[in-house]
Amino acid sequence: MNIRTRFAPSPTGQVHIGNLRTALFNWLFARNQGGAFLLRVEDTDRERSTPDAVQAVLDALDWLGLEFDEPPLYQSKRLDAHLTATEELLSRGLAYRADKGNTGQGEATLLKMPDRSLTFSDEIRGTLSKQPGDVQDLVIVRSNGTPVFHLANVLDDIEMGITHVIRGDDHIENTYRHVALYLALDAPLPCFAHLPMIVNAQGKPYSKRDGDAYVGDFRANGFLPEVLFNYLALLGWSAGDDVEVMDRATLVEKFLLSRVQTSPARMDLQKLLWMNGEYLRAMGSEVFAAACRDVLSDADALSGVDEKYISRVVSLMQERVKLLPDIVEKTRYFFTADFPFDEKAVRKRLQKPDALEGLAALRGRFADVEDWSELALEETLRNLAEERGVGAGKLVHPVRVAVSGLSEGPGLFEMLVVLGKETVLTRVDSALKEYGPDIHSDPSDL
Ligand code: GLU
Repeated sequence: MNIRTRFAPSPTGQVHIGNLRTALFNWLFARNQGGAFLLRVEDTDRERSTPDAVQAVLDALDWLGLEFDEPPLYQSKRLDAHLTATEELLSRGLAYRADKGNTGQGEATLLKMPDRSLTFSDEIRGTLSKQPGDVQDLVIVRSNGTPVFHLANVLDDIEMGITHVIRGDDHIENTYRHVALYLALDAPLPCFAHLPMIVNAQGKPYSKRDGDAYVGDFRANGFLPEVLFNYLALLGWSAGDDVEVMDRATLVEKFLLSRVQTSPARMDLQKLLWMNGEYLRAMGSEVFAAACRDVLSDADALSGVDEKYISRVVSLMQERVKLLPDIVEKTRYFFTADFPFDEKAVRKRLQKPDALEGLAALRGRFADVEDWSELALEETLRNLAEERGVGAGKLVHPVRVAVSGLSEGPGLFEMLVVLGKETVLTRVDSALKEYGPDIHSDPSDL
């Protein structure tokens, strides 16, 4: 069988990650099976389906790399076909007109439910069935002449030759009605696969209130598209082993509808963030450096800075950022003398007499270091700590805060080497001046 899947969004402005997950599963399944993935824009709500809303769908698919194999079908262009099909159902006695609810507003067209059970087999949930009488006759064209979602959706799936309808499980109830439509239209049923809902920590449908929920939010916050791709693939599906970080090719190869779970899938932003960090770490160092350079120059952090120096700085950070935009704040002190001090770090690590005394002594020793290398600096610091009878941490933390303003960052000695001797001594001096007026740093006094 030539597999054909589709993503059929109703554009509303922003693309919820739940919808993107649906698109992704359709894409993965089609690619795994060597089939086609199509896009149908269900744009019959003219007020909401603005050109911008449609563009948001196209951008989201493009960003994630979910390319479709044929030009998109715009449902609004199919009105005549939908109405012709309705006339046919009427002429075959399978539909009828009635003034629903006696509104006096004219007659709607309804599909008669057949006198048999409405059954379909779901690739994820098995066989699902409703008894005759359990499903009401269905309005297919409103009294104002516009076709409803169900009719348009089924007719377009038939027209597009869709073999697998993969969508959220909020559509299960609709699917029984759709089965009745397929029967009336003498069309073979496609396979259905209903995906579990995406929920928050409380098990409620995941929404904007729970955190980032739209594709644009993740993009703006610096998540990598390949990370969202990987993470969304795990929302309701697993490869059957413990492996979670998988590239596109691996996901395509492993994706099976039979491994989609029926229970709701929990959105976990912390895990997504962790995964983004994993991808950044695994990047080639050149690729990482180039990406950082883009982010830094967008933030105007780099004017006149030497290329080599930038590379050295960002290579210190590759293991330490979870989102690329974080690089700006985390490396500010490398590029300017005018960097902020974290007040809490200053109070805890610097503004204490013994910390400042130690720092002053260390300043004296550092001034004498000629070979400004990690090894030499570490040895100098450890020797001094030993002489003073304190742990190395008592010296490490104050000097880190003094030169970077932060309590965390890259390894201290690597960082000092990249900053350079002159900068380190100048910064220690100004920290001593700022926070320890009584303490002098002249090595001859120590
Ligand atoms: N436009 C519908 C939705 O976004 C399509 C459902 C389907 O995939 O059939 O929910």
